[in-house]
Amino acid sequence: MDCAPRIDISDLGSSFLQFSYNGKPFLFHYSTFELFEIDPIVTSLFNKVNNNPIEALNSQEKAALREIRSLTQIQKKDRSPTSPSLSAISLELNHTCNLRCKYCYVFANDNHILPESSPHQMRWEVAKSVVDFFLNQLTPGSSFFIRLFGGEPLLSFPLIKKIVSHVEEIATSKNITTEYLLITNGTVLTDEIVSFLESHNVNLAFSVDSTEIKHDKLRPTSTGAGSFKKIEENRKHIKKSNIKKQPIANVVVNRQNTDMFENYSFLINSGYKTVNFSFIFTNKKEFQLETADFPKLKKEYIKIRDYILEDLPNRLSTTPLISDIFQRLKNNIARKNFCGAGKSYIGVGMDGSFYPCHRFVGNTKFKLGDPVSGINDSARRLFLQPHIESRPVCAICPVRNVCGGGCGHTNLMYNGGIEEPRELFCLLKKFEVECALYLLLHEGEIYETCKKGEKTEKSRESKSKEGYKEAA
Ligand code: SF4
Ligand code: SF4
Repeated sequence: MDCAPRIDISDLGSSFLQFSYNGKPFLFHYSTFELFEIDPIVTSLFNKVNNNPIEALNSQEKAALREIRSLTQIQKKDRSPTSPSLSAISLELNHTCNLRCKYCYVFANDNHILPESSPHQMRWEVAKSVVDFFLNQLTPGSSFFIRLFGGEPLLSFPLIKKIVSHVEEIATSKNITTEYLLITNGTVLTDEIVSFLESHNVNLAFSVDSTEIKHDKLRPTSTGAGSFKKIEENRKHIKKSNIKKQPIANVVVNRQNTDMFENYSFLINSGYKTVNFSFIFTNKKEFQLETADFPKLKKEYIKIRDYILEDLPNRLSTTPLISDIFQRLKNNIARKNFCGAGKSYIGVGMDGSFYPCHRFVGNTKFKLGDPVSGINDSARRLFLQPHIESRPVCAICPVRNVCGGGCGHTNLMYNGGIEEPRELFCLLKKFEVECALYLLLHEGEIYETCKKGEKTEKSRESKSKEGYKEAA
């Protein structure tokens, strides 16, 4: 008869992510971020745990499980702010664009540089009242991030000039640091615009999807011509300017554009330092990504990972897709929220209404207020809870402290509520974590100490795989 004390294994699947590195099996612990190289008995034990009731384990396996538990009792420190201040906004400056991207969900006309009275543009009085509202809440020494968004925001350049100049004036007098990010299609840059962006330290993200032929197919102008050449011309123009940070490339991954590695390597070789990937959000079925696309996307991730691996120190920062997670794991920074939507970040519509983020703009069910009535605290409450605790699926996910709980808006679009994550999103996120762990192990910082059976990192109290061997 087995006299070992009963072990609760119900949460093992939610505590460990299993993955392999160079053919060797590893476990990643959700809370301590510990990595354990495991031997075959622990691997088979985990398979049993996944497929069988506790009764199927023998006494050695139960002892091993107890040991695993004892190795992972350290809880990560929660570094989430308890009452975050509203320090970041996205301004939807207009509803107009000179391009006709095939997958776009926002579309109006293609006026070039909108007149102040345009119904397709945020009015200056509205913009002023919005930025004043947020600046008034900020204390000296704090920072304020403004995302300039559209449509194509540079078609509202006169409005951008007014907003930035006004914010600078107030921020300087209140000792508030400002940062701007302009999301642009990269086709509407003049000398005047470049010089303004340069002198006000505005960072740029260019939407550029792929090689010229593929990009032009997806992102033509309103006349049907290609837009790639103009973007390249403008990128080179910016390179010669004194703009401190070169534009990052933002690639929209969609069903017609899943060759992530080809796009990434092409853009890096063209001169972009950073390539960001946005996964499509659209109601156009032919562009929508589905769970069935995961195997293909996984192969693309592997190609990107292996490319970075060839020159880790220089290539890691080329895509936040993996580097953000890598840094989080390396520096032991747990995440209780996926993003600051509704907490520290507000999306502002053209009429000045507040929403949890730029993607919620226009969905009045989620309206959080406006500059006159202020923030509606009860509407905002839903967004103040830590995502990984308030989302039932996330609460038992082994990568929850790295992911932070996923995009509430994606959840809403695909599953009807902000709390239930989309299957494809989770598959990708878990694989992103695996890729980052793979790079970390490659870097040797953790792998070498694991092999020696020592602590995996100075700051972590841990034991090695030797512990499992003893127990097993
Ligand atoms: S969104 Fe998915 S991957 Fe992220 S914590 Fe939740 S269940 Fe895990
Ligand atoms: S809810 Fe989604 S789209 Fe909105 S800020 Fe968060 S991650 Fe971004």
